[in-house]
Amino acid sequence: MALWKNEILNSNKLNDLFILNFKKEFDWRTTLEFISNRTTFTKRQCSSEDTKERSYRIKNLLKDLPTYDTLCKRDVDALENNKCIRCDENEIETWDHVWICNDNEANLDEILRESISKFEEHLNKNGRSEDITILRNHNINIVTILEERSNILLGKSRIWEMLRGVFNDRFNHLTKSKEELMIIKECWNFIYKEFKTRIWLIRCEEVARLEKLKGIQKQDLRKKKRRREQDQREGDSEDENTENKKTNKKDKKKQKKEFDKKINIVTRDRLIGAVTDGNNIEYNWDLTPKSTDLV
Ligand SMILES: [Zn+2]
Repeated sequence: MALWKNEILNSNKLNDLFILNFKKEFDWRTTLEFISNRTTFTKRQCSSEDTKERSYRIKNLLKDLPTYDTLCKRDVDALENNKCIRCDENEIETWDHVWICNDNEANLDEILRESISKFEEHLNKNGRSEDITILRNHNINIVTILEERSNILLGKSRIWEMLRGVFNDRFNHLTKSKEELMIIKECWNFIYKEFKTRIWLIRCEEVARLEKLKGIQKQDLRKKKRRREQDQREGDSEDENTENKKTNKKDKKKQKKEFDKKINIVTRDRLIGAVTDGNNIEYNWDLTPKSTDLV
C-alpha cells in the first residue's frame, strides 16, 4: 500500500484544514476535483504523467512531499540529518520550509504576481482576447484573496491554502458567470503550477545536484528499505513461499477491500464532521473520492 494512503488514515495531516472549517471557508468539491486531477483526465486511462501530478497534489495536501524532514522520519539512513541542504540557515527541511527557503529564486508573493501576468501572456498567445478581458476584471481580486490572511492556516496568507491545493470559497463569489469562474479557476491552476515549477521542481534539481556533490546517490536513499525487505524475505522458508503465494494474493485482495472500506469511513467521518460544524453537505457524497482515484 502506498505510504501516503496509510498516512491519510493514520495521521492528523489534514486536521489543520478541517479543524476550523466551520465557516464554509473552502470549496471542497473544486478542491477534490483538482487534487484527483480529473480536469486533464482522458476517460479511458490516465497517463503516468497524470498519476504523477495527482501524487504530487496529494502529497502537498498532506504536506508529505519527500523533503529531508519527511525522509528522515522514514529512516532513510543516507541522510546525515533533516536540515535543508540548499540554504545555510540550519533549518529543518520541512514542507513549509521548501516554499520559503532562502535559496528559492523568488518569494511566494513575487511568484503570485508574476504568474498573473504570465497567465495573461498565455491567454494572449492562444488568441483568447475575451478571456483576457475577464482576467483583467478579476486579477486584482484574485491576488487580494491570495495575499490576505488565511482564516484556517493561522499566521499564513491564503497562498498557503493554494500550496496545499485547497480552493478557497471566496473565488466562487467573485462572479455569478460560469464562464468567468472557469477563467478564475484556470488562473488558479496556472498559479499553482507556477509554484511547482519555480520552487518545488527547482528544489529537486538543486538537491539532486548537491547530493551528487556529496556522493549521496538515489540508490543509497533506497538502500535501507531494500535491506529490510531482504531481511524479511530471508526469514521465510522457500516451501512456505510457494505455498503462500496464492493465499497471499487472496489476502491482498481482502486487505485492499478492507482498506477501501476504511478510507470511505475516514472520508465520511470528515464530511460528517463538516456537517456537524454547520456546513452544507448537499454535494458531499458525490465528492467522496474513490480510493482508486487516490492511487
Ligand atoms: Zn533552505
